[in-house]
Amino acid sequence: MRRTTVLALILAGAAAPTSPGRAADAAPALSAEIRETAESLRQNALSGSRASEWIRSLIDHSGPRLSGSSGERASIGWGLETFKTLGFARVRAEKVRVPFWQRGVETGEVTAPYPHKLSLTALGGSVPTPAAGLEGEIVEVGSLDELATKNEAAVRGRIVFFNKRMRRSVDGAGYGETVPIRGSGPSRAAKLGAIGVLIRSVGTDSNRTPHTGSLKYDEGIAEIPAAALSNPDADLLERLDREGRPVRVRFTLGCRNLGQADSANVIGEIPGTGKSEEIVLLGAHRDSWDLGEGAIDDGAGCGIVIEAARLIGALRKRPLRTIRVILFANEENGLAGGKSYAETHAAELDRHVAALEADLGSDAPIGFAWNAGPSAERLVGEIAALLAPLGASQVTSTGAGGADISRLVLAGVPLFSVRQDASRYFDWHHSANDTFDKIDPVPLDRMTAAVAVFTWVAANVPQPFERVPKEKRVLPKN
Ligand SMILES: [Zn+2]
Repeated sequence: MRRTTVLALILAGAAAPTSPGRAADAAPALSAEIRETAESLRQNALSGSRASEWIRSLIDHSGPRLSGSSGERASIGWGLETFKTLGFARVRAEKVRVPFWQRGVETGEVTAPYPHKLSLTALGGSVPTPAAGLEGEIVEVGSLDELATKNEAAVRGRIVFFNKRMRRSVDGAGYGETVPIRGSGPSRAAKLGAIGVLIRSVGTDSNRTPHTGSLKYDEGIAEIPAAALSNPDADLLERLDREGRPVRVRFTLGCRNLGQADSANVIGEIPGTGKSEEIVLLGAHRDSWDLGEGAIDDGAGCGIVIEAARLIGALRKRPLRTIRVILFANEENGLAGGKSYAETHAAELDRHVAALEADLGSDAPIGFAWNAGPSAERLVGEIAALLAPLGASQVTSTGAGGADISRLVLAGVPLFSVRQDASRYFDWHHSANDTFDKIDPVPLDRMTAAVAVFTWVAANVPQPFERVPKEKRVLPKN
């Protein structure tokens, strides 16, 4: 290796924003006592946490939990009872109004050039088709940009087939690249006169289990029915379309928009001593899509944050600050729970010293993301060192937070994420295959350990994280 290269590497190392060893000359931000307790929590979780027990009881007692459904209502009671049984304090349900959309009959078929059955499912929020179904010729596009190059004559009266494959990756980045089609595709197609939309599922599997998820109709644009095809069914349409003859499909969706319903953010706390008015927020979402059991999304997150807080509550010593666990309502199709929390608690957000959300399944931690003021860097490095034995020492300063807690950044609340291995997550996410058998307790315990370690540090460090600077107080896209 050339010397200049070595020098460049040394300089790069010195300038690396989050290199844990960098502050060797300064006294550690964490006392030996905080570190030792964090290490013992880590060990407690690794030697068999109860996180999977909470996931199991949530989904077995409630079933799928789409906003407004009976399962979703049942899970409010489950949350209250679970928090009380485990000895959490100030257990409560804070009312939230949520959208109420219900799936109905779903059928699909290719009618020409050859008959085939199709596995499809309505996108959340879709309007229904006529009872007899909707039939038309497809026009295939690979992206929103490609649709934009089409003239109206090519689209009017047809069914737009968005055919973009989601890329599998450890960090789940393929989701962000593909999901805009699901949200915006229907209105973009309607603007050009399409009568319906089919998308290739935003998922990485090859099962005949289509993946649902929310669409968002633009105001003033015709609302047209939209559904996701399973990946093998999208393959079939693609092959038929390659033959060059017109491909016609018919599909029927019986979904209904039922207005609004009552729901709640369910909250339990481990009270602090000394600085009990300061809050470390741990979030996950209680609602789920309706096709599966909502085990990985987001039963897993609920199990992780409940168990991390329970392990802390079971210690002999109390945390300095209060740990507030929130099982949010309506993450999947409206974010009403997260919005409502930010509004209702606006007056105390300056006392929220940190917030973390678990919403990427049950697999192992791979890193730690943060969004706080620059002086928090040294503390983040020390947390990363505590997470290293769990495989989560790689620090990034982007992508911290979660949908339900995203709005807190506007008030400067420091946001954190334990990043997870997402390479399997999108095989099952939002599909009928999101079931309890996908929960592997070994990586789940590692994730729970990581969240417990972070939470203990955040709740006890004498000087909390510097708040998010003004220029970084921005909502993520979508
Ligand atoms: Zn989720």
